[in-house]
Amino acid sequence: MELWYTEEHTPSVRFSIKVNEHVLSKKTPFQRIDVFDSEEFGRFFTLDGLMMVTEKDEYIYHEMIAHVPMAANPQIENALVIGGGDGGTVRELTRYGTIGRIDMAEIDETVVNVCREYLPFTSLALGDSRVHLHFEDGLKFIRSRENFYDLIIVDSTDPFGPGEGLFTREFYGNCHKALTEDGILVNQHESPYYESYARSMQRAHSRIREFFPVCRVYQAHIPTYPSGHWLFGFASKRIEPYENVRPGDWNALGITTRYYNAGLQTGAFMLPNYVKELLNRACP
Ligand code: SAM
Repeated sequence: MELWYTEEHTPSVRFSIKVNEHVLSKKTPFQRIDVFDSEEFGRFFTLDGLMMVTEKDEYIYHEMIAHVPMAANPQIENALVIGGGDGGTVRELTRYGTIGRIDMAEIDETVVNVCREYLPFTSLALGDSRVHLHFEDGLKFIRSRENFYDLIIVDSTDPFGPGEGLFTREFYGNCHKALTEDGILVNQHESPYYESYARSMQRAHSRIREFFPVCRVYQAHIPTYPSGHWLFGFASKRIEPYENVRPGDWNALGITTRYYNAGLQTGAFMLPNYVKELLNRACP
C-alpha cells in the first residue's frame, strides 16, 4: 500500500509527497507535529498538516531569511529569532563570527525537542554557546525589549493558530521598539500566488509599513511551499537592503552557501509585475 502526505494549498489544489515512513506524530498544547521520511525530499516535518522543513529544500528558506539581512548590515551583533524551532535560521546565523548573541523565542518546546532528535541537519547549532532559548510566545517576549536587537527574524508559522499574533500591529510596533537605530526586521512573508496567501502577505506588508520607513520585499523559489514562490519582508529604520552593499564584502567572509549569493542580495528584490501590483495595492 502506498502512503502519501497531502497538503491542501487551496480548496481546489493539493500537493502530495510519497512517504516511505510516518516516523512520528505528536500533539502538543499548541499544535500537532508530524515527521515523515520520503524518497524525493528526505526527512520532513509538518505542523498542523502544513509543511515546515524538508531535508532537500530547507537551505533555500534558511539561507535567504538569514544572509540577506546579514549582508545588508555586517555590524549585526545581537539577533533575535522568533519561532524557528527547527533551528535552521539559528544555524545560518551562527556562521557569522561577528554575532555575539542569538536569542530564540519559540512558543513550543516540543518542536525544538523533536527537531533535536529527528532533524539534526537543521537543529545542529542550537547548542552553540551564543544561542539562548526562551520557550514563550514571541508576541509577549518582545513586549519588554527595547533598543537592543540589531536583527529580528520572524521565522513563524502562518497567520493563524499560535502564529497569528506575529502578524499584528502590536507585534510589529514592539519589534520597532526592540530594534536599535540600524536594526533590521525580516519575516517570512507568505506567497503572492494563491489568493488567501496573497491577502496575508498584503496585510503584513501594510502593517509593517506603518512602523518602518524602509519596507521592502524579496523572493525565493521554495518547491515545497504553496506555489513554490515565497516572499520575505525586509524592514528597517534606515538600512537599505542592497543599495550600499558591496558584493565583495560578503564574499570575503568565505561563507559557503547553496542558494544565497551576493548577486541575489539585489536580484531577489527584483519582483515580478504582479507582485509589485499586489504590494502597491496594499500600500498605495
Ligand atoms: N519555515 C517555516 C515555515 O514558514 O513553514 C517556519 C518554521 S518554524 C518551525 C515555525 C515555528 O514558529 C514553529 O516551531 C512554531 O511553534 C513557532 N511559533 C508559532 N507561533 C509562535 C509564537 N507566537 N511565538 C513563538 N513561536 C511561535
